[in-house]
Amino acid sequence: MTVLVASDLDRTLIYSAAALALTMPDARAPRLLCVEVHEAKPLSYMTETAARLLTELGDTAVFVPATTRTRKQYERINLPGPPAQYAICANGGHLLVDGVTDADWHARVQARLADECAPLAEVREHLLRSSDPVWVRKHRVAEDLFAYLVVERELLPADWVKELAVWAENRGWTVSLQGRKIYAVPKPLTKGAAVRELARRTGAELTLAAGDSLLDADLLLAADRGWRPGHGELADAGWSAPEVGALPERGVLAGERILGEFLGAARTAAVRGRG
Ligand SMILES: [Mg+2]
Repeated sequence: MTVLVASDLDRTLIYSAAALALTMPDARAPRLLCVEVHEAKPLSYMTETAARLLTELGDTAVFVPATTRTRKQYERINLPGPPAQYAICANGGHLLVDGVTDADWHARVQARLADECAPLAEVREHLLRSSDPVWVRKHRVAEDLFAYLVVERELLPADWVKELAVWAENRGWTVSLQGRKIYAVPKPLTKGAAVRELARRTGAELTLAAGDSLLDADLLLAADRGWRPGHGELADAGWSAPEVGALPERGVLAGERILGEFLGAARTAAVRGRG
């Protein structure tokens, strides 16, 4: 029986130093494994236990990283376990098969975007016009598909993101605030659509998922079962769905818990499949 496990990475399985939430006494903090180096500095971590669970998961299920990161940002992550055969990058805009983008999938995504939502250029112009250099550090375009800003959270006006979300909604775009980044993403550009495509290709009988941000809601809904951590946009919004477990753990320990849930569910399904 094939089990597909599609998981968001940042603040779901891997954590920057600022997102670790090591609230326990120092002497009881978990040992950490660095899984991403950027410009010669350590950037993202998981616990050693999580690393072991992820390795075991790779032997039990088809594990698919599902990230909003660009391909380049994804490629510098070095996850433990067997190399992932499939990966979802750019929020579903690129489906990597053995590290190479699937050109047919990308063409299908681009056709949907051209049909169903306002062009990137219009959104980018609005972002440039309506934001303030006082609190914007960077304007970025990702893979020619969507845009994001890097901001100073303390200086960001309280209602700006809400106003942007309303403006974007009317143009078929969605907005997500994650740490210091504000994303503007076309609504048809989803991790969920890419996961459904992979479920079809692999013939998966069970799909599991996890994620922490609003961009992960459709990923969680596309799966048969899902989990979200106790931190992040979904937790802050009190978001819930019948088949999605709301975990109490926050920070890097939530990543460990999620991998434990994935492995437990995948093993139970494997036993049932044999029975
Ligand atoms: Mg995330």
